[in-house]
Amino acid sequence: MRCTACPAPAVVDQPYRGSHVCADHLRASVEERFRREMHRQLPRFRGGTIAVALSGGKDSATALALAHDYFSGRPDVALLAVSVDEGIPGYRPATLGAAAELCRSLGVEQTVVRAADRLGTTTDATARALHGMPPCSYCGVWRRRLLNGAAREAGAQALVLGFNLDDLAQTVLMNVAHGDLDRLARMAPHRTTQPGLVPRLAPLAQVPEREVYLYARLRGLPFDHGECPHAARAARNRFREMVWQLEEAQPGTRQALLRTHEQIAERWGASAPAPYRCRSCGDPASSPLCRACRFLGAAEAPPEVA
Ligand code: SF4
Ligand SMILES: [Zn+2]
Ligand SMILES: [Zn+2]
Repeated sequence: MRCTACPAPAVVDQPYRGSHVCADHLRASVEERFRREMHRQLPRFRGGTIAVALSGGKDSATALALAHDYFSGRPDVALLAVSVDEGIPGYRPATLGAAAELCRSLGVEQTVVRAADRLGTTTDATARALHGMPPCSYCGVWRRRLLNGAAREAGAQALVLGFNLDDLAQTVLMNVAHGDLDRLARMAPHRTTQPGLVPRLAPLAQVPEREVYLYARLRGLPFDHGECPHAARAARNRFREMVWQLEEAQPGTRQALLRTHEQIAERWGASAPAPYRCRSCGDPASSPLCRACRFLGAAEAPPEVA
């Protein structure tokens, strides 16, 4: 199969565009989609600190490398990579190693935030205490809190996330399936700022997961291929499967799901600030006690005796 744009062999097909692309055209097209989304999601940026969430996997490695390129001509912008150590010994140390290597190679400052220090517990310790609850439910909420806290402490104007098109399409579908329009409207990318919450950007929103992976490989970025031992229990897995099937039957479904999110965010008023400040941690929250603190309370509670 040849590239749709040149005689070189294609490395990936893009049924949602009716094209096949070679390595060079894939790189150029990923970079262009990233730039376009940054312009759209962060218009008229006047300089300052941009935090980038860096797990050490392919998506965040790609987001950091592209953010580094994007701001390379801007001496008024400082990048800060923020990595979270949730406390998953069989998995996280390797990804943190890859993250540190990438930061060294790009010359980007990195900070590592540890759940054990900031929350007084870890994902693995909580998984042992709360057998019945899928670890991703609290681990993801805690990670968001730690990332936001680190970005806020650094005075960052925005927090760049490595979410790709598949991730976001799955999240839209999950929120719809749970009937949670509030959370759907509040998904990244954020259009507005509110006190205490660093706006989250998702500049890889138009790039499918497979293309992010190929891009990271073609560019030789260091990233870790490991999978979290808790991932098999994630509720997201069902939605990943559904999105694949829908996309195969009807190419372009992922982009359509993203447009659904954008339209709902506009009409639902995603710009409305969170109505509460958590009574325990003070973060913006949709209820008097934020989800992160509710999970912390559950993790501390003694297990029920049957
Ligand atoms: S897969 Fe789940 S438990 Fe593992 S790091 Fe991700 S959110 Fe946490
Ligand atoms: Zn080509
Ligand atoms: Zn709280």
